[in-house]
Amino acid sequence: MNKIVQKFGGTSVATPESREKVINKIIAAKAQDEFPIVVVSAIGRKGSPYATDTLIDFVNTSAGVITDREYDLLLSCGEIISAVMIATLLCNKGYKAKALTGGQAGIITDNHYKNADLLHIKTNTIEACQEQNIIPVIAGFQGATSDGEVTTLGRGGSDTTASILAMGLAADRIEIYTDVDGIMTADPRVCEKARIIPSLSYNEVFQMADSGAKVIHPRAVEYAMRANIPLIIKNTFTDEEGTTIIQTTKDVPSKENDHVITSIAHRNNRVQVTVQDSVLSDKNLLDQVAKENVSIDLINIFPQYKVFTIDEDHKLKLETLLQKMNYKYTLMEGCSKVTVIGERMTGVPGVMARILKAFSKAKVEMLQTADSLTTIACLIKKENLTKAINALHDEFLL
Ligand code: ADP
Ligand code: MG
Repeated sequence: MNKIVQKFGGTSVATPESREKVINKIIAAKAQDEFPIVVVSAIGRKGSPYATDTLIDFVNTSAGVITDREYDLLLSCGEIISAVMIATLLCNKGYKAKALTGGQAGIITDNHYKNADLLHIKTNTIEACQEQNIIPVIAGFQGATSDGEVTTLGRGGSDTTASILAMGLAADRIEIYTDVDGIMTADPRVCEKARIIPSLSYNEVFQMADSGAKVIHPRAVEYAMRANIPLIIKNTFTDEEGTTIIQTTKDVPSKENDHVITSIAHRNNRVQVTVQDSVLSDKNLLDQVAKENVSIDLINIFPQYKVFTIDEDHKLKLETLLQKMNYKYTLMEGCSKVTVIGERMTGVPGVMARILKAFSKAKVEMLQTADSLTTIACLIKKENLTKAINALHDEFLL
């Protein structure tokens, strides 16, 4: 019997109608004689009564600052409510189902509250479910220490839970259900022309996710890639085929895969930092920045200065450090990073020239750039974001 992990995101479990769709997807898997291992996110997004942010706000305003251990305990509730809801709906439709916390499902982590790392996966509970024909419905985004303390997985949330369980159980595939028909050539909220991509490689999706495409978390892609389990992104609300993610798409005959660039991702809230710093200085700027846990990218080093970008959230921390170390620096706020991604870009000449041509035609100023084998990232002003993404889409993806 095929084992499949089905993960349902926040919008999929948000309303009675959407939960009905979720139940239908699970029942459809059962009808195919597959064993569904269901993972759910918390119900609703910011502002809705059971959303994670609402729970945190509630305790914060009524009781004050929450300690890390209690924070994780509280954070885990949103997904537990969701798991109970979906398991109950299944039971009342005549299926055997059981809601499980991450810890009960066997996800054992270290004790770094708020950002715990996986230590190992105990598969016995879920295997027992399979033997007894019970559908396990697991609360995403959480685990437990070997002492049973509740932890959350930090980055990646429920997508990561799905990949972790699939890896531990050697599942046949992972289905990530969300509110779009699959992975698209760009974020449909920014680019109206964005189209669904039928197949992509793990590397391409990892680069997309890592460059800001919200549709899946990079960590989830990493685990699936490591275990070599096919990952499929689908829409809870439609019957579209979705996007299948595999090792390489080079052998998949498709018009889509002829493109040098397969997709465009973006990340907002970037700040460009220019620091006067000689390469001969022994102050070791980048080392100090790393020690402050400020992550930087788009790093360009020149003899007398360094340029890099940070997230707006890290601005205060970085400025405090630069001032303490007596650096002269300037900041450019309100930037966005746009990244073009494509496995086939490697070795193809003229990609950067085409980006510059597209930007020049659309009157988008390029502030900075960096590239890797399969990506080219460009820093621009945020107000140019829609123009820039559409210009690149026209140039490479039509
Ligand atoms: P979920 O709650 O199901 O996890 P998310 O909001 O995390 O859903 O992810 C889905 C959203 O990701 C879409 O609604 C879309 O706006 C956004 N997104 C960003 N880039 C892309 C892309 N390249 N393809 C598809 N969706 C994208
Ligand atoms: Mg998501």
